[in-house]
Parts: sequence; structure tokens; C-alpha cells
Amino acid sequence: MSLLKNNSSNSNSFNNDKATLEHGQRAEENTSNFVYNPNHKLPIYTQRSRLPIYASRSEILYLLEKFQVLVLVGETGSGKSSQVPQYLLEVGWAHNRKMIAVTQPRRVAAVSLAARVAEERNCILGDEVGYSIRFDDCTSPSTKIKFLTDGLLVREMMGDPLLEKYSVIMLDEAHERSINTDLLAALLKKILKKRKDLRVIMSSATIDAHKMKDYFNVKERGNNNDNAAILQIEGRCYPVDIMYSKHPVDDYVKATVDTVLMIHKTNAPGDILAFLTGQDEVEECCRLLTEKLKTFSSKTKYRIQSVPMYSNLPAREQLKVFQRAPSGTRKVIFSTNIAETSITIDNIIHIIDCGFVKTTVYDPDFNTETLTVLPISQASANQRCGRAGRVTSGKCYRLYSEEEFLKLKPQSVPELQRSSMAFPILQLKALGVSNVAKFDYLSPPPAKNFSRALELLYSLGAIDPKVELINPLGHQMAEMPLNPMFAKCLLKASEFDCSEEILTLCALMQIKNLFHVPSSGKEKMKAARVQREFYAMEGDHMTNLNVFTTFVNNRRSKSWCDKYYASYASLNRAYNIREQLLKYVQRFGIEMSSAKGFDDDKVLKCLCSGFFANVAIYTSRGCFKSLRDPVKSPDLFIHPDSVLYTVPFKSGTYVLFTETVHSTKMYLRECSVVKSDWLLEVAPHFYSVR
Ligand code: ADP
Ligand code: MG
Repeated sequence: MSLLKNNSSNSNSFNNDKATLEHGQRAEENTSNFVYNPNHKLPIYTQRSRLPIYASRSEILYLLEKFQVLVLVGETGSGKSSQVPQYLLEVGWAHNRKMIAVTQPRRVAAVSLAARVAEERNCILGDEVGYSIRFDDCTSPSTKIKFLTDGLLVREMMGDPLLEKYSVIMLDEAHERSINTDLLAALLKKILKKRKDLRVIMSSATIDAHKMKDYFNVKERGNNNDNAAILQIEGRCYPVDIMYSKHPVDDYVKATVDTVLMIHKTNAPGDILAFLTGQDEVEECCRLLTEKLKTFSSKTKYRIQSVPMYSNLPAREQLKVFQRAPSGTRKVIFSTNIAETSITIDNIIHIIDCGFVKTTVYDPDFNTETLTVLPISQASANQRCGRAGRVTSGKCYRLYSEEEFLKLKPQSVPELQRSSMAFPILQLKALGVSNVAKFDYLSPPPAKNFSRALELLYSLGAIDPKVELINPLGHQMAEMPLNPMFAKCLLKASEFDCSEEILTLCALMQIKNLFHVPSSGKEKMKAARVQREFYAMEGDHMTNLNVFTTFVNNRRSKSWCDKYYASYASLNRAYNIREQLLKYVQRFGIEMSSAKGFDDDKVLKCLCSGFFANVAIYTSRGCFKSLRDPVKSPDLFIHPDSVLYTVPFKSGTYVLFTETVHSTKMYLRECSVVKSDWLLEVAPHFYSVR
């Protein structure tokens, strides 16, 4: 028997939408949020008054009296996030029991900013200044300044549609254009019409402010006054010379190192900041530079010190980026995009820009979200350039030609336009938005992304043909901080007697790497040998379950993790996420049950009930094809990290997958072998028998 995709419901195939616990805040949870304070030895008051924003205090307050929306532009470190809420508090915006809210795209940023502001105000965290992130509320009735994630504010609207608790809402890091920032901007625009007392600050580190201003500046009948204003905080700014590469470079990693050496050879003074796309490239540059310096005939008066920078780097190592190099030594920082807006490094004279960035892209045809290296936008190139010239004039070396620069997109694509719309649609529906496709988005997502998401939600049983949420499934899926396919599995798991197992799998999907990968070949082999103990022939899902269960049975001990090269931090995070998800399941009154390791089929069948659209079939051509549309499907391969990598498949074998990776080929990374009968049983609306 072979399965054929039902043509009646043209729903979607693989979805690699890795929702983290607060949807839209991806893969940043294990990363540090590093803020360097060069004035830490001075008294707090002096530190505050030395920040560039201090001079704009009265102007900010004046503009907020006059306008409902203020777009505030100032470079990272100028004092936007920590000072503006305090200025507002000082002049009484938190009177009448109203609060000042400041949203952050990342949980760690919300917590550390709250701690910093509490320290500056000399109060206990959670008192006057607090934070609230999902499952961790550190506020009290006396809280006046509240830092929270943008995802949480979207959820607060479900209980408080006009956000009446707040007098001012600051959407911080608006330039990042996270999914939730974009959703909030659109929702706040509606609220502002009803609440003339409310103020909104969009704060941004880059200068594309006019689009935001125009978006909020709707002229109402009989009122021609602007509703929104822009304020740019003056930073010191010296000219930066831009040098383009004459010919396209074919290896920007190598070209970056060569450019470093070229600068070094000419004895031009000053530190260098080079932009690359990922940790691997950063490390490769450090290695290459060290190697090349060995044969470099040193006629220069400077020594050179290379420093890596990426978000996963331990805080202790990140500090080195900010420390001054000893005199006579030139510091070269090889960094990912983190140095574009998230951090500011002083005294940079030379910028090297490879012209690329690693970002998630959504493919509506196959419904995958995959990390891909893409050319940056002109705005990004200019922002990178501006990272020099803060202390004196600088130079920017672009490893691409001027023609190539002119061909770049003017602005980067917001996350909402390059992600699956399935979860945003569920949320907007839960917030009472009637027509999600015609909603007034800051940048409307492509129509195809809507149709794909609607098809998926319909086939999952979350919405009816009129695009209304189905009770209770649709509403529960909107509340659950999970990708809708996982949410469906979890909400249906008790019917398959395996909610304990599915709960674990949902938690494990939120973390990146269960295991450490040792760098030496010998260690790698040893790791593979000890880890074989967990391998399940069904595939990665049962294998991961084995790892987690054994970890918990060994009292979550660090030494157990070390023995098996398992990541202690990741597994503990999964453990915590599991506890949090359990609270939802309990609140929805879903019974917990377990297949108790006797019946793996039940677990896999339950996975099919959510991921029926993510199934691939092995073909005689030696690769997999998406079952949804084998003709159009790209060739799919099992990822080398999967336990199924070495399995000799027979044609006609079905594999369900929950994660894809796109590098040289399209890979299925987390996958399990499933049976066609199961698909027919759990998704008869989706498949029919050929
Ligand atoms: P912006 O939001 O404009 O990037 P911030 O308000 O976050 O700026 O930070 C302004 C300055 O306050 C920083 O340059 C740093 O000196 C200090 N600062 C902010 N957060 C912290 C922190 N967690 N610890 C120490 N200093 C901090
Ligand atoms: Mg900030």
C-alpha cells in the first residue's frame, strides 16, 4: 500500500518552526546578555548623567506630552532602555497606579535590565522596578517600571485587551523587528485610537525610523496633527571612508584575514572589527590569522591580538572584547552579527564587512524554516560601517563591490515576513482580530505564507473553514507556547496514552544540542560509543526520550552528563521547560498518562497526529521525497547527526521529521520511521490510499 496526499486539503509539509517557550524568541536562551559599563567605578548619578541620552531628557518628555508615539533612535549603549523608563517615572507617568512597560525580544535582557535599573534606583528587584517573563513574575503591587518580553505582552492582551495597566509602553529593540514586536506594533496602533492617554515609544538602534513614524501617523478626519514624532539621540560621529573590493571575493573568511593583514602591514593604527556569519567562521578566522602571522615578516610596530565574539561565548570570554589591548598591540575582533546592534565596542577604527548574515528563511512551498547565510541589506551594511567612527574617523572595508552594494535590499526582511504564520495567526485570532490577512501589519507578510498557515491550522483542527478558532483545541493551541504541530500532539497525547512521553519530546524540541561534540577525533569516537546505549531503532525521538529518562533517573547529575558527553545545561533547561508545559496541560484538564516504555508505537502514532504533513518516503533514487508532493519535493537526506543516518532503507519506507537543516543538501535531522497505517488512522482527511 502506498499513501497519496488527499488533494481536497492542500495542506502543508515540513515545518521546522522551532518555537521557544516564548514564541518568536528563538534560540537565544542559553546565550549571555552582555553589557559593558566603562564607567562602573563612578557613582551611579555620574554614570547616568554621562550617558548620551541624558542631554535629550527634557526633549523626550516634551515630545511624549505632545505626541502619542515617539520613535526614539540612539545607538546601543546610549541609555535608551535603562534611562527612558526612569525619566518617565520621575515626572509622574506612573501615577494613578499605572505602570511603565518596557518590552525586550529576549528573556535574559528583560531580567538583566530590570536588575540594572533597580540597582540604579537603589531598590529591591521586584519592588518599584520588576520584570515579568513567562513563568517568572518578579513584580509586586508597588511595581512602576516593568520589563517584560514582547511575547508576554502579546499574551497579557488576551486578558487585558486595552492594556489598561500601562500608561507608557516602550517597544525596545524595535529595529530587530521580531515577530512579537511587529504584532504588538499593529495591536497597539488599534489601542491608541481608543486610549488617547496611552503613549508608545518605539526605540531603535538604527535609523530607519520614518517607516515606523509614518505607520503610526494616521491622519484622522478633522485632525491633521501628527500623532508620532522621531527623536534621534546625538552620538559622536566621525566620517567613515568606505572601501569596496574591486572583484567579488570567493572566500570571505580568507579575504577577511587577508584584509586584517593588509591593514596591519600598512601600520595604520587602530583596532579592527570584522563581521562574519557564525561561530564556526569566527573561530576559523582566529585560527587562520594565527597561522598566517607565523610566516608574516613583521615590519610593523604593532603586535596583534585576535578576539572572538559570538553570543554563545562565555561571559568571561566576551569581556575580552571590551578590554583595551596593551599598548603597542592591535586588537582584532572577529564577530558575528551580535556586534551590529546588540553590543558596542569602543575605539574601533577599521570595519571589515563580509556582506553576509545568517538568518532564518521560510519556504512556503515546503513550509520549512531554515537557517541560511544570505546577503545583508544596505541598512545593515551602513549600520556595520557606523560601528567605526565613534571616537575618530574610521575606515570600512566591504568585501564586495559597489555595484553589489547597490543591488542589496534597502532594508532587512522582518521576521514576520520570513516565518511560518501559523502561530501568529492563532494568537491574532485569540485576540479577536477578525481578518488576519487584511490586518494592518507594519510590513504585511506574503499572501502565500497566509494560505500555507491557514491550511495547516485547518488540517490540525485548530480553525474551521471560516477561520474561527475551534473550541477548545484552537484556543488551547493559541495559548500554548509551542509550535502548533507540537501543541496538537501534546493536547491529543492522552488519547494515545503517552502524554508523559510527548511532554518530554515537546520540551526537548526547545533545546538545541543534547550532546557536546568533542573536538578531537578520538574523543568523538568514544562519545559515539557510550551514546550508542540510548539508540532506538525507531529513530531520534525515541532515542532522545531514552537520554532524557536516563538523565532524570540518574538524579539529573552532572557526572552522569559528563560520562555520556550530554549537555548538563541543555538537559536541565529541557527539564524546566517540561515542568512549565505540564502546568498548561494540567490547567487544560488533560489527563497524564504514560506508555511506560512498552509501547513505542503509541508515542510515534501520537507524533503522526500532529506531524502528519511532515512525512517523507524513501524512493528508489536513494533519497527521500516529501509525501505531500513527491514530484515537486527536493531530494531529502537523513542528517549525519540522526541515529537513522546509517540505516539501509527500503524504498517505500516512511519517515516523520520534526526538524530540517539546509546546508549542502536538505537534511532531515530529527526523524523516526513510521507506518502508513498510522497516517491513515490519525490523518484520514490528509491521506488516502492509492
Ligand atoms: P541602550 O538601551 O541605549 O543600548 P542601556 O540603557 O541599555 O543603553 O545602557 C546604557 C548604559 O548603562 C550602558 O552603556 C552601560 O554603561 C550601563 N548599563 C546598562 N545595563 C547595565 C548592566 N546590566 N550592568 C552594568 N551597566 C549597565
Ligand atoms: Mg537597549
